[in-house]
This record gives sequence, structure tokens and C-alpha cells, in this order.
Amino acid sequence: MNSMVTFKSSYLQQVIEMAEKKNSNEPEFMQAMKEVLCSLEPLIIKNEEEYKRNSLIERLIEPERIITFRVPWLDDKGQVQVNRGYRVQFNGSIGPYKGGLRFHPSVNQSIMKFLAFEQIFKNALTGLPIGGGKGGSDFDPKGKSDMEIMKFCQSFMNELQKHIGQDVDVPAGDIGVGAREIGYLFGQFRKIRNTYEAGVLTGKGIEYGGSLARKEATGYGLMYFMREMLKANNISISGKKIIISGSGNVAIYACEKAQQMGANVIAMSDSSGCIFDENGINLSVIKDLKEVKRARIKEYLNYVPSAKYFENISEIPSVYNIEADIVLPCATQNDITLKTAKLLVEQGVIAVGEGANMPCTNEAVEYFIENKVLIAPGKAANAGGVATSALEMSQNSIRDFWTFEEVDRKLEMIMVNIFKQCQNADEKYNLGINYVAGANIAAFEKISKAMIAQGII
Ligand code: NDP
Repeated sequence: MNSMVTFKSSYLQQVIEMAEKKNSNEPEFMQAMKEVLCSLEPLIIKNEEEYKRNSLIERLIEPERIITFRVPWLDDKGQVQVNRGYRVQFNGSIGPYKGGLRFHPSVNQSIMKFLAFEQIFKNALTGLPIGGGKGGSDFDPKGKSDMEIMKFCQSFMNELQKHIGQDVDVPAGDIGVGAREIGYLFGQFRKIRNTYEAGVLTGKGIEYGGSLARKEATGYGLMYFMREMLKANNISISGKKIIISGSGNVAIYACEKAQQMGANVIAMSDSSGCIFDENGINLSVIKDLKEVKRARIKEYLNYVPSAKYFENISEIPSVYNIEADIVLPCATQNDITLKTAKLLVEQGVIAVGEGANMPCTNEAVEYFIENKVLIAPGKAANAGGVATSALEMSQNSIRDFWTFEEVDRKLEMIMVNIFKQCQNADEKYNLGINYVAGANIAAFEKISKAMIAQGII
């Protein structure tokens, strides 16, 4: 599906050829865009005249705005460091731009655009009034002192604050941006703007406008979606063996909910390697290592000596060599290539839940679908985080604070509804159990209507 993709619709073909030329150095963005457009083709063919007249698809794939900026900061040795900051405001037709900030050395414009593009569809699926955006920096938080993290966040916000606001654009966390970073970012926003605009950022601490259950939301939401998807296919989650790639925010809370649902999570990883604990992962050890000590996952063995550690040595991350019924990639994009997908199918996987954004390559997704592996697509399955961020914004607007159970109940309802939308689109368009295409179609139906209604802007 990747570079050689061809469409039956001549309009779509033209659009893609133009996009290839314009974005030739943005492989992740092209990958995300093609994946979506391929699955929208039946709809596009049906409405080709109207979409063409409106240049709807050309507008859909062009961000409304991209902001890039210099982020200078002083390290602990007194040396000035310079990073690049980004904010992509991709599509605001449904509501204020909304999407996380990623701090990771791999961040570039292609990755920012792919994430912001995915976010448009994800946010539409939540049913809440939020548009699609994403941002971040090539700053590497690993090995930095707390003071360095604070100085970086303050400098980043010095520029970002010009472009955000509770009715304009509302960033949140993503890889490398957790509660600590959101705290520093919010503090700097408040200082510069001299206003307590709590709804300008989500993922805040509970003491200053955050929502209960936001921390848990993406991982919990992933498991609510997975449960619904399995149930629709007459499979129970209880007793299933699960492996999770990653051990960050999404991975930890997916593990927690999976364990609550009676599944057995036997492996988790970080970018260096994975731990395998056939008795079931001890999650309090992982939380202590990752949320408190910011340590490597290998150190799990210091607490659970019977577990095993496998370093990543080949192009297939070590965690995927462990046999399981359900695989939850919760680390980063393109973690599962076709080669890994083949291995997983050989090992008998029945379902894959994308906790991360675009963790499977397009070829891997196609291979899973061909081999009747159920796929919970990231856009839908990991939407619980942003949905709960929108609930945080609601609480900020009405100056209220809901209980954990209240937020969790709303989250669960949203995830059940997102699954239903994917399932309905799958049935309506005869997709043959393809929730990936179902999610794209369901989201696009809403976005396209909003864009057309608002005229050529
Ligand atoms: P965290 O920073 O909390 O954790 C990221 C995890 O992934 C870590 O275990 C990290 O290992 C691993 N990882 C990161 N980069 C790589 C890499 N290049 N190769 C291998 N492993 C890697 O991030 P989150 O848990 O918040 O995010 C994980 C994924 O979920 C991302 O794709 C994000 O976009 C997506 N997501 C997050 C949401 C949220 O609410 N947080 C919402 C929706 C999607 P190490 O520490 O070794 O780098």
C-alpha cells in the first residue's frame, strides 16, 4: 500500500500524485495519509463530483497552519542548547485544535504532520467538539536533570503561548511529556499571560485543574475498545495472554485494565529490550521504575529475579518473540513491520490493539486483516486519552471536578460508542471485519460534512 498505491478514482489518484510531490520528504505523513485515503475510496467515488468541486481532499491533507520555532535553553553546565519546536494546527472544523506534545529526538515535521492528521480522525470519533493538532520538539528528555527539563519547557512555552488558548488550540502530553512537563508548561503560560486559563492544556495535575482518570484514560480506553471488539466476535478477554510493547503512560494503564479484566500480561518493554514474566507482570514494580525512578525496564529483574530480560538485537523488537493471544503495541510508530506481523501470525495472535499512534506499518495491517487477526486501530482504540482531555476541558469550563468513577464511566461509554461507529461503518460498507477502514470512514463522514458546511476556507 505504501509507495506504489494506485486508486480507481482518477480524482484521488491525482491528489495523491500531487501530495507525493509536495511531501516527498515526509514518509510518515504520506504513510498515514495513504492509509486513510485508501479506505475512504468507496466514499470518495460516491461523492467524487462534490469533493472535487470543493477540493475537499486537497484541503483535508493540507494543514491549516504549521508553526516552527527556535527553543534556546541553558543546560546545567551553563551551555546554551538549541532545539526546534513545532505545532501543527491541522484541522479546526469540529472544534479547537487538540493534540499532544511529543519531546523525542526523532521529532521532525513529517512525524508531527502524521500525528496531527491522525488526530483529526481520532477526535472526530470521540463525538466531542475538538479539532486535530499536534506538536513537540526534537528535545531528548532522557538523562536531563529536573532543572533542565523545566528550563526547556519554559523556553518552549515562551513561543507556544502565542498560538494556543482554551478556544484556539489545547495541547496535552505524548511521548516524553507527562505530568511534570505539563506542570512546567502550564506555570510558564500562566506567568506570561497573567490569566488562569485552566483549559489551555490538559493532563494537568489534580491540584490545579486536572481530571481524575486522565492519566489512566488512554490505556483503560484501549482495553474497553478491545473488550468490545472481542465481544462482537464472541471472544472473552479473561485468561488471555497479553504482551505490551512500551512501558510508558499508555502501556502501564493498558496493563492495569487488562489485569482487572482477568487477562495475563506476561511481557512489557522499553526501547532497549523487554521483560518476560510468565506469572504475570507485577505492575507496581513497573510503576515505581517508570513513573518514579525513571529507570530502565531491565531493572525489573532486581525486584522479580524469576523474570527474564531480552535485549533488542534484531529489527524485530524482542517483546514480539514472546507468544501471546493479544498484542498491544503502546510504544511508537512503525514498531510492527510486515516481518514482525508474519511472526505474530505464526505465533497465533488473535488480536492487536494499537495503543500507540500508527504502531503497525500499512503492510503489517493488511497482513493481519488478510489473516483474520482482529485489529483495533489506533485512531479509535487510543482515543480515550483525548476524549478524557476533552472531559478535563469541560470540567475547567464549568469550574467543576468530577469523581474518578464519573470520568471513568463517561470514558467507557465513549469507547463503547467509538467501537460501535467502527462496527457500523464496517457493516454498512461491507468491509468484512475491517475496523481500520471502519474508523476512517466513520470519522470522515463527520469531518467532511463540517468542512463542506463551513465553505472554502
Ligand atoms: P511515554 O513517553 O509515556 O512512553 C513511551 C514508551 O514507548 C516508553 O516505554 C518508551 O521507551 C517507548 N518508546 C518510545 N520511543 C520508542 C522507540 N523509538 N522505540 C522503541 N520504544 C520507544 O509515551 P506514551 O505512553 O504517552 O505514548 C506512547 C504511544 O501512545 C505514542 O505513540 C503516543 O503517540 C500514543 N498515544 C498516547 C496518548 C497519551 O494519552 N499519552 C494518547 C494517544 C496515543 P523508552 O523509555 O526506552 O524511550
